[in-house]
Amino acid sequence: MRSSIPNAKRIVVKVGTSTLTHDNGTINLVRMDKLARILSDLVNQGKQIILVSSGAIAVGVNKLKMTERPKTTPAKQAAAAVGQSELMHLYAKFFSEYGHIVAQVLLTKDVVETQPQRTNVINTFDNLLSSAIIPIVNENDTVATDEIEFGDNDTLSALVATLVDANLLILLSDIEGLYDADPHKHPQAKLIPTVEAITPAIIALAGGAGSTRGTGGMATKIKAAKIATQAHIAMIITDGSKPENLIPLLEGQAIGTFFKPV
Ligand code: GLU
Repeated sequence: MRSSIPNAKRIVVKVGTSTLTHDNGTINLVRMDKLARILSDLVNQGKQIILVSSGAIAVGVNKLKMTERPKTTPAKQAAAAVGQSELMHLYAKFFSEYGHIVAQVLLTKDVVETQPQRTNVINTFDNLLSSAIIPIVNENDTVATDEIEFGDNDTLSALVATLVDANLLILLSDIEGLYDADPHKHPQAKLIPTVEAITPAIIALAGGAGSTRGTGGMATKIKAAKIATQAHIAMIITDGSKPENLIPLLEGQAIGTFFKPV
């Protein structure tokens, strides 16, 4: 089932706010550094990596010394506008430590179905990837509010995977993968290693949003899986607190939950 994973060349990796921050909302610098190191090594191996990262609001909240995440959407957008440049500064710093160049790509979902925007975006990605530059994608939070309201870039990452014709989409989550029951409520819940098809039963397993720091949850991850797998792209959900697991995962080891492409 996972035999084609080691051959995946073009890979979209999505990281959410909860993975990039500590429980108190401050930035988890060690984790960001680790993620940059692992992704840099994957590029060294000859893979093309696109990182879809949230965290703009969280970084903005810290920079503005706010005591909590703002409640209104315009205030979140303003915090994201402050935080996005700082987020990119951090990524540029960490990736450059490992000899790699990053590029900022801010998108809105409508580019997927609007010309000439769609072609422009694809051309930019192709050009960056052929130069081994790592595009770091976020929603353009000033223009669109979809992922601020709900989703934490899960859907956006699947759309990016279809745009760039990726071989694999990896969602780094605050949980190991999809379980057969809610593991927060049922300690006996078992990880589902493979999902062959997104059936109503699988959709029913995905509850609401997980943490208070991001807005994503299993539901938006299953939605992302639907978009990706229908576009013949395999998807994996795995634990973002262990970025080092990406290496064995891409060697084909059974880590996280694998969604089989249609
Ligand atoms: N684009 C938003 C951000 O970077 C994602 C939404 C969220 O964090 O919930 O902050």
